[in-house]
Amino acid sequence: MENERGEIIACEVCENQLEQVKSQVGMSEEEFELLKTPRKSLLVNFPIKLDNGDVRVISALRVQYNDALGPTKGGVRFHESVDFDEVSKLAFLMSLKTSLVGLPYGGAKGAVKINPKNFSRAELERISRAFVREMKEFIGPRKDIPAPDVNTNPQIMAWMMDEYERIFGEKSPGVITGKPVELGGSLGRNKSTAKGAFYVIEKIYQDVRDKSSIKVAIQGFGNAGSNLALMLHNAKFKVVAVSDSRAGVYNPDGLNIPELIEFKNKKMPFSDYAKEGEIITNEDLIKLEVDLLIPAALGDVISEKNADEVKAKRIVEVANGPITPKADLILESKGVEIIPDILANSGGVIVSYFEQVQNLATYYWSEEEVDNKLKDKIISAYERVLEEKASLNAKSFRTASYSLAIKRILEAERLRGNL
Ligand code: GLU
Repeated sequence: MENERGEIIACEVCENQLEQVKSQVGMSEEEFELLKTPRKSLLVNFPIKLDNGDVRVISALRVQYNDALGPTKGGVRFHESVDFDEVSKLAFLMSLKTSLVGLPYGGAKGAVKINPKNFSRAELERISRAFVREMKEFIGPRKDIPAPDVNTNPQIMAWMMDEYERIFGEKSPGVITGKPVELGGSLGRNKSTAKGAFYVIEKIYQDVRDKSSIKVAIQGFGNAGSNLALMLHNAKFKVVAVSDSRAGVYNPDGLNIPELIEFKNKKMPFSDYAKEGEIITNEDLIKLEVDLLIPAALGDVISEKNADEVKAKRIVEVANGPITPKADLILESKGVEIIPDILANSGGVIVSYFEQVQNLATYYWSEEEVDNKLKDKIISAYERVLEEKASLNAKSFRTASYSLAIKRILEAERLRGNL
């Protein structure tokens, strides 16, 4: 993509991240050139009628970063503060994620620049449908397959799929994943991001007999954060802090997670939770003295501004890109072990893949089957990362994960004759 001055619009963050692993991975200049820019992007602005008759022009975009391994895959988020660079970075991460866990997909990401809280349900439906009308040639079951991401959910996927099917006049459930089960969604997809992260965490702490000795803080209580909190709570880990976008609750003796989920289901903010524990800020949560810190909300929450004050021994990235590259270096020098997003939160896209397989075969699996296959895939990826880390003598899990993911993409590029 070029700007009005004819300059190539690259992804600065992607280039920086690649630069950091270039020598360790043994990437040539040509390979670096090929990976540092997104392949295709589409930016659209479309008018929407609000319920009161007013018209609003909405901006949206989709970036297909790399498609060497197959059709591109990745979520669509609804968020006010997204731009080309951010979405490109997220599409880049999706390319690495699908590659790392061995899926036959490239990577993409989309965003609609709105705060969904400011729109009614009917308006959100019109926005979702308009997004698909604008993107109808750009997406497709064999081109680019969207899915849920921040602030989007199965209902939004259902509207998007329905619009696509209306346009093309045929059923096409494989165009989108994360759909409601009634419309071809997979059992187990809704909890899959949390489940995948849970399997990895369970594996890491497999030798710890008394799980209640492990203190966990989780930032973000959306789909991934809340489901993971419950899974860890049920497995007897001590979840001492959770938070929503405004505030957190902290209790060093452990929180009653089922009760907190019930509280949130009533659409109440944690800042109003008076039952137990202390109300803290999101910033306080990041700095808590815990064994395991799980950022499960937005990106860049740990930066060079607060990385020094992180006291957690280990971080599992359930959000995409929660640690900035500068913070990553600080944490590494402090000896904090980080399980990167492209591994830790890959459960979502793994089950999206299963969903598409089921759609294309029109044969549906039990939840148990889905969960077992998910566990197999994510744990074998984790084990491959451990081996790569040892063989590269790499300091971080991130470098080892990037190395594996990049090598697989480059091999596909070579086989296609692009290198
Ligand atoms: N949005 C999720 C992610 O960041 C899922 C993507 C998908 O299922 O395609 O991994």
